[in-house]
Amino acid sequence: MLSPVRLISEAAELAARRHNGMARKGRGQDPYINHLAEVANMLATATDGADAELVAAGWLHDSIEDTDTTREELAQKFSDRVASLVVECTDDMNLPKDERWRQQVIDAPKKSAGARLIKIADKISNIGARIHPDPTTEERDDLADYSGWAEQVVAGCRGGNQWLDTTFDDMVLTARASL
Ligand code: ZN
Repeated sequence: MLSPVRLISEAAELAARRHNGMARKGRGQDPYINHLAEVANMLATATDGADAELVAAGWLHDSIEDTDTTREELAQKFSDRVASLVVECTDDMNLPKDERWRQQVIDAPKKSAGARLIKIADKISNIGARIHPDPTTEERDDLADYSGWAEQVVAGCRGGNQWLDTTFDDMVLTARASL
């Protein structure tokens, strides 16, 4: 088992390489790694640095869904828990978007405590990226849609970490105020 510092450092490096060249949706086509850094850092803050595997899983949470990374590889390089957390945050990309969104709402309360925290941090980051100073109609609709859905997913995830719950609620208020 890697030391906590190495666990997180290796996770960040693998994520940077696997998501290399990818841009995130939303504001200014930020590099994808910015989203992963934001999620991992929120998890570190929320738990005050007490859970290195959770922070590592934050760096890696989109690696199975969006790159050729596998569960086995993550289990071998990191730990079984890190691999499981990432699998729990992986949508079935064979399903259409509406179905994946519906599934996330249904599945949220069944997730492990750690996966629920990752889901909340992910939604905070994704709403933040959709807030524009001077939104077009399309950007406005996208933000309203995404925030409404994220609230339903997070309703099934909350209660495990006060800071994440509050940060999510504040982000939704900021999003609504920008519409
Ligand atoms: Zn994500």
